[in-house]
Amino acid sequence: MEFEAVIGLEVHAELETRSKMFCACPVVDSTVAQPNIAVCPICAGMPGVLPVVNQRAVEYALRVALALECQINHTSLFARKNYFYPDLPKGYQISQYEQPLARHGKLVIVTSQGERLIRVRRVHLEEDTGKLTHVSRDGQAYSLVDLNRAGVPLLEIVSEPDLHTAEEVRQYATALRSILRYLQVNSGDMQKGVMRIEPNVSVRPLGSTEFGTRTEIKNLNSFRALERGVAFEIQRQIEIIQKGGQVIQETRGWDEARDVTFSQRIKEGEDDYRYFPEPDLPPLVVEAEWIETVRRDLPELPAARLLRFQQNYDLGSYDASVLTLEPAVADYFEQAVQAASGIPPKTIANWITGELFGLMNQAGIGIEELRVTPEALAELTRMVVQGEINQNTAKAVLAEIFESGQPAAEIVARRGLSQISDADFITGLVQQVLSENPDQIASYLAGKETVSRWLFGQVMRLAKGQANPQVIQTALDRQLQELKNRPR
Ligand code: ADP
Ligand code: ZN
Ligand code: MG
Repeated sequence: MEFEAVIGLEVHAELETRSKMFCACPVVDSTVAQPNIAVCPICAGMPGVLPVVNQRAVEYALRVALALECQINHTSLFARKNYFYPDLPKGYQISQYEQPLARHGKLVIVTSQGERLIRVRRVHLEEDTGKLTHVSRDGQAYSLVDLNRAGVPLLEIVSEPDLHTAEEVRQYATALRSILRYLQVNSGDMQKGVMRIEPNVSVRPLGSTEFGTRTEIKNLNSFRALERGVAFEIQRQIEIIQKGGQVIQETRGWDEARDVTFSQRIKEGEDDYRYFPEPDLPPLVVEAEWIETVRRDLPELPAARLLRFQQNYDLGSYDASVLTLEPAVADYFEQAVQAASGIPPKTIANWITGELFGLMNQAGIGIEELRVTPEALAELTRMVVQGEINQNTAKAVLAEIFESGQPAAEIVARRGLSQISDADFITGLVQQVLSENPDQIASYLAGKETVSRWLFGQVMRLAKGQANPQVIQTALDRQLQELKNRPR
């Protein structure tokens, strides 16, 4: 029997507002801040305090909802989701339940199978919980509670179960992350937990329209974990059914080291949360006028920018998508193209996605920390295109700019790296190489054509890598041809 996987994603994104969702405490980076420095009676859940909605958080949520083409509810309701956990001091989380901020959105993703439209079920506002750190001291286990994160605005974006493969899941999450970054509401830093993804996975016989029983995977903190976790879970469920068993609805964790999901707890039903309308907050009313203002101020989104890059810069869809995934990279590219007027944008794109990304990956840095300015890259590209330095020299120069931030021209002058294009000089080098290698010449004349490539390399070596490759090739071809024509 063949199976089809059915997957829906719940994505939690912290909103990077200055203050928390319902109090004036600052939002701090909870991975570096001293524990419990951003806490007040409201987010610590003291009795008798009253929450007040953060307007900026609602605006950020509207940006996301509109970017996903959702319908906005002019009136939405906050609700209490009751459960006990040490990082939830109130004993309930303020969330939205029956009437969320927005519904019925969509996100188009691109996979190896083409474009697919994924429906977004709902987008709602809630608050984050605190953080527990489990430690052991003197053989005793302790859990430390840090409430810096408690009450940080959190946006939940829930998809319809429209995804069917691990690749689609990855593309959906990638596209959503890209949108959040374009909207400047979330850094997308999954290692820091500001964006968390929980896939719900079920399988069913191919062709069936009924849903199978789903499991939910928690604690995925990278795209790699997301893709592998989903692939593992699909396979695990298929095997259970093939053996005549039944999948049970549960929450599963992801064990990064062993590459498996494992049962964490049997999933509680909605009834267990005893949702009820939050009595301390009035309904959230969003006027049409405000929605239109937010809509008008939306930036160009990744999909639109991708199209524009393809059309304006004559880039293929691969280059365009790599360059537009991160807004900072797209800006960098456009600045470099501007600075290098006349150089084909495709050439600039190649330098960025090839050499520059390579250096950044090696050093483990992002575009924000880059010392190579767009202008410096433009200048380097211009020097190559105009024949002042050759491709290989340029790579070495780029590596040096990457380290020192010095201008290309300075490095080239100081290290004497200018390309040698003097035909007489290069002809002399070719003659020298030919006369020093009689055995190689003999085998070349006997028909071993590949020797010419080796000879080319020898000439380039003599020129310390700085000769113009075209000039070498011409001189070498001419002299080899003369040797062939010489009567033997
Ligand atoms: P909960 O909050 O209890 O997890 P939701 O109804 O909000 O429940 O659904 C969570 C996610 O599960 C949604 O993304 C939805 O698309 C997905 N989902 C629902 N049913 C299935 C199923 N049978 N298989 C896979 N995903 C499903
Ligand atoms: Zn507070
Ligand atoms: Mg869920």
